[in-house]
Amino acid sequence: MTWDLIIIGGGASGIFCAANAIEKFPQKRILVLEKSDKLLSKVRISGGGRCNVTHACPEISNLIKFYPRGGKKLIPLFKQFDCNQTATWFEKRGVKLKTEPDGRVFPVTNSSDTIIECLKKIIHKSVEIRFSEAVQSIIPLPKGGFELKGKNELYFCEHVFVAAGGIPKLQGYNWLDPLAFRIEPPVPSLFTFNIQEAKLHALSGISVKNAYIKISGTKIEAYGPLLITHWGLSGPATLKLSAFGARIVEEKKYQFEIQVRWDADWTEEWLRNCISDYASSHPLRKIANHSLFNLPQRIWLYLVDASNISSDQIWSQLSKKSNNRLIENLFRMPFQVAGKTTYKDEFVTCGGISLDEIDLHTMQSKKWPGLYVGGEILDIDGLTGGFNFQSAWASGYVAAQNIF
Ligand SMILES: Cc1cc2nc3c(=O)[nH]c(=O)nc-3n(C[C@H](O)[C@H](O)[C@H](O)COP(=O)(O)OP(=O)(O)OC[C@H]3O[C@@H](n4cnc5c(N)ncnc54)[C@H](O)[C@@H]3O)c2cc1C
Repeated sequence: MTWDLIIIGGGASGIFCAANAIEKFPQKRILVLEKSDKLLSKVRISGGGRCNVTHACPEISNLIKFYPRGGKKLIPLFKQFDCNQTATWFEKRGVKLKTEPDGRVFPVTNSSDTIIECLKKIIHKSVEIRFSEAVQSIIPLPKGGFELKGKNELYFCEHVFVAAGGIPKLQGYNWLDPLAFRIEPPVPSLFTFNIQEAKLHALSGISVKNAYIKISGTKIEAYGPLLITHWGLSGPATLKLSAFGARIVEEKKYQFEIQVRWDADWTEEWLRNCISDYASSHPLRKIANHSLFNLPQRIWLYLVDASNISSDQIWSQLSKKSNNRLIENLFRMPFQVAGKTTYKDEFVTCGGISLDEIDLHTMQSKKWPGLYVGGEILDIDGLTGGFNFQSAWASGYVAAQNIF
C-alpha cells in the first residue's frame, strides 16, 4: 500500500503539517510515524505546561532577528505564515489566546492541553498514527516516491515530511545518510552560565532590567534583563548570548569570559563624569552606603567590594586606581564562565539539516522532489519567547500547502 503522505515525527511541526494537509486535502491518505508512544510531548511540557505558542511580533523584518540560525533565510517561510497567522489559525479553531506584557502568546487557559486537543481534534479519525515506530531510513525510489524502513515495517509513500525534531548528536542523523544532506553539527542552544563565585551566588534572585553582556574577544553581545542565580547568571540577556554564541562557546568547551555592563545605555564617559560630580558634591559620604545609577544596593555593595573599596571609605578618599576599577566593574565587569545549565529544562538544538538543502518557499528538498522537511531538525532555532514553535508551525503549514 502506498500512502499519499507520510510524516515522520508527531511533534509540533509534524502534527501541524498533518492538520493543515488533511483540512486542505481530506481525501488524501496521511500517516504519521512517531517513535515514542505519544504525540506532541514537547508541546505538553512547553512554557512550563502553558505552551508559549508564538510571539506578538507582527513585522517579519523584526521576527527574523530572533533566530540565530535561520535569520534572513526565513523570510519566504514567514511571509506565508507569520506570528499573526499562527494566532489567527488557533483562534479560528476555537483556541483563545492572550499576549503577556513581554510579547509571549499563551492560550488563555494557561494549559498546553488546549493546543494539543485542538490539533488532535483535527487529525482524529482522518490521519492514521503509528506509535513506537522509529523510522530508520528513507530511500528515494527510482520511479518517484519513497521507501521508509520503520522499526516494525516497510512503508511506501508518494511524499514524505521529515519532522523528527532536534537531534543533539551528529550520529543521530545517520538514518538520513541515503539522502546525503549536509548536516550542520548539532550543539545546544539556550542555556544559563555557571560562574563559580560565592559572592555572586549570594546575590541570587536579584536582577537588573537592561544589562549588556558580551563574550570577551568576540563581537557576540546581548541586551536585556539579567538575573543572578545561585549558580551564576541567567535571564533573557544570558539566554540570548548563549543562543547567538552557541557554536563559539561549544568550541571553548563552555569555559570563557564574559563582560557585563550593568546598564546597556551607559557610556564610559558618562559614568566617569557622574562619579566625579557625585564625589565632588558628597565628599564625606561613604561610597558603600548609597547605590548610584539606580543599581540594587546589594549589587552596588558587590561592585564596591570587587573594586577593593572598603566599606567605610568616603568619596574624597577614593584613589584614581580604585575609581578606575569601579568604572571598569560597572562598565565591563569580567566573569569566568565554567559550564552551562539548562534553563527551566527548555533547550533547542543549534544545527541540523542545512537550510541550503531546502527551498524555504515550499520546504521541499532541493535534491529530492517529494521530500519536505520542517521544525527543529532543520538548522533553525530561535530565542525563548515562542519563536521555536513559530518556526515549527510555519514550516509544517508551508509544507502542507505545497505537498500536493
Ligand atoms: C522543556 C521545553 C520547553 C519548551 N517550551 C517552548 C515554548 O514554550 N515555546 C517555544 O516556542 N518553544 C519551546 N520549546 C522548543 C520547542 O518545543 C521545539 O522547538 C519544538 O517542539 C520543535 O518542534 P518539532 O516538531 O520540530 O520537534 P519535536 O516537537 O521535538 O517533535 C519531533 C517528534 O519526532 C519524533 N521522532 C524523532 N525521531 C523519529 C524517528 N526517527 N521516527 C519517528 N519519529 C521520530 C520524536 O519522538 C518527536 O515526537 C521548548 C523545548 C523544551 C525542551
